[in-house]
Amino acid sequence: MYMNRLIVAAGLCAWACAAQSVDPAKGLVLANSHVRFEFQPGGMGLAGMTDLAGGMNHLAPAGGPRLLWEISLGRGAQIRTFDNNYKPCNYAALEKTAVGGQRAVMEWNDLRYHLEDRVVSVRVTVDLPRDSGVAEWRIFVENQSDYWGLASVTFPVAAGFPRTGEYDIARPVFASGGHLLKAWSERVRGRHPSGGWPMQFAALSRGRNSVYFASMDSEGRAKDFLIEPGARLAMIHYPENIGVPGSDWPDHYPVAFGVYQGGWLEAARRYRPWALRQKWASAGPVSQRTGMPDLIKNTAIWVQDGWVWNEANGSPQEMNAPFREAQDRMGVPMALHWYNWHHMPFDNLYPHFLPPKPGFSERVKELTARGLLIMPYINGSSADYNIPDFDKFEPHAIQDEAGGLRQHFYSDSAGRLLSMCPTQEFWQDHISRLIDDLTRLGVNGVYVDQISAMEHELCFNKAHGHPVGGGRYWVDGNRALLRKIRNEAHRNGRNVVITSEGADEVFLDLLDANLTWAQPTDWEIPMMQVVYSGYTIFFGSPCDYTKSERFFNFAQGQALIDGRQNGWMSFGLFKPEHRRKAEYLRECGRQRVAGARYLTFGRLLGPVEPAKPVPTFSEDGFGWNRPHRGTVPAAEARLWQSEDGRLGIFFANYVDETVAFPYRIDPARFGLNRRVIEGAETLAPRQIKLVEVTE
Ligand SMILES: [Zn+2]
Repeated sequence: MYMNRLIVAAGLCAWACAAQSVDPAKGLVLANSHVRFEFQPGGMGLAGMTDLAGGMNHLAPAGGPRLLWEISLGRGAQIRTFDNNYKPCNYAALEKTAVGGQRAVMEWNDLRYHLEDRVVSVRVTVDLPRDSGVAEWRIFVENQSDYWGLASVTFPVAAGFPRTGEYDIARPVFASGGHLLKAWSERVRGRHPSGGWPMQFAALSRGRNSVYFASMDSEGRAKDFLIEPGARLAMIHYPENIGVPGSDWPDHYPVAFGVYQGGWLEAARRYRPWALRQKWASAGPVSQRTGMPDLIKNTAIWVQDGWVWNEANGSPQEMNAPFREAQDRMGVPMALHWYNWHHMPFDNLYPHFLPPKPGFSERVKELTARGLLIMPYINGSSADYNIPDFDKFEPHAIQDEAGGLRQHFYSDSAGRLLSMCPTQEFWQDHISRLIDDLTRLGVNGVYVDQISAMEHELCFNKAHGHPVGGGRYWVDGNRALLRKIRNEAHRNGRNVVITSEGADEVFLDLLDANLTWAQPTDWEIPMMQVVYSGYTIFFGSPCDYTKSERFFNFAQGQALIDGRQNGWMSFGLFKPEHRRKAEYLRECGRQRVAGARYLTFGRLLGPVEPAKPVPTFSEDGFGWNRPHRGTVPAAEARLWQSEDGRLGIFFANYVDETVAFPYRIDPARFGLNRRVIEGAETLAPRQIKLVEVTE
């Protein structure tokens, strides 16, 4: 703690020559030609955030003191919260930075809190570059209490933003690409890192007037994004050593927050260069990832099923018949995500998956010999409280603040599953041994459930050797686990595909593919694909294939043009009554193979908007966790760029009618320095088409 204080003080001296002290009682304005941030006199609450290009103040006017930060101190079960208006700011300055930008500094020094003198100091800096409306916000919290520890730091807080129902909110989302929640009025909250908030940014747009909100955390520490329309936008950071006397928040990463002109696509384009500099992108593009088996790079269509397929029983070969037939019909590389291959019921007795059901090895041997990717399910995060040897696992489970195990309800037929602490070598070794055992049974892929889906649960077990509460240990532990898994997958010349559930960015370099199993919605935007296409592989486009053809085609066609490997339905799809749907899926698979330079190795630049509206259709049953009626276009298009710079437009017609699709692409919108691309495609019923752009 004391050391941090000295470093902060030294930094102040170095800047002093360029600093212009400001009287905190008069407030502070930080502005350039793009944005004007206004901080209130005294408490320095954020009172204005005006986009000078659009002339719009995003913060609704409100009387009284505004918020900038909230700090919670805690011990045991007690949590006490105070904010920037608790005492007036007692030092403020405006500084010029070396690169032509400005920095606002605001300090609340040596606050007396809860009967202790001079215990908490808070320092906020806001760095505004010369040429952007998005600033980098930092907060340092130094806690000298001999009793209280930090519990959370909420910063920045923008009260009165966003106005209810007036903003479209683009957010990363579980197991798909992203959602655009139009004119949204409900609360949105998510923890990064997690499968539910797999990238650390959101964008809020009112027409072209938009707000960018991102953490720039290279380590994947626990934090929550909170958007409460009509109330506030905030980020909640969870420090290391929550509740431990004297614990601090030494400013691990900045929050990028500010205004810009554009929509979600511009936000994703802003995020991508930062994201690709992080360790989770360090394995490089898919084309350079030599550790990623060709089997997964080439896969075109997935099936997900249990032990018995389409009632085919008998010998292992007889049981495999539905897959052989599907493979012959599809004629493209296929993969199986295999459930219930193990001795016990699903979601029970984890992690004791072995032995497999009788005949498993024989079935695997026949299918892999046919060139198929055979990927059984295991779980990499949960153990079942009901296993007879749970006493060996219990010391390595995640513990909450009061010593309870974090038990989860997944279904009524599940065991009592609870989260294991990924830092624990006992658990890491147990799971990596399972990979070895499964590989010996002949499989060429293993799906490790939940690692990319779970959120960073806070662990308070003091015996685990990591700081309790927040921090980077959860990501570091899971990364160590995934490295051990990969080592098993590649031991002795093996080349086994490893995947997980969802697509948490912090694990992308250690996984070969990410399962996008969310059902289709009319909210879908390819937010994650715009950021990470060409660096990782997404697979799965499951939908209820007993619904209409156009619903099925929408789910498959959109997934294809967004770059997801199609499928993850059961073998029931290949029954005669679903013939036309299987044909559409086959066409997606063919397009994937033919267009691999774009869809597998290239970069998704973004959606191509039709120059004139295309017809739409409405269906019930969009949204998997919140079913609702939705309206979607009959056809869509996406612009892709291959690694050698070629441009390709993928069109997908979802309906059984001809659709005219005129388009005009302004390359500048996608960061390209080229002439405008214009054209008009007439899409035949259910047609999927790649149009390559020639100079
Ligand atoms: Zn732990």
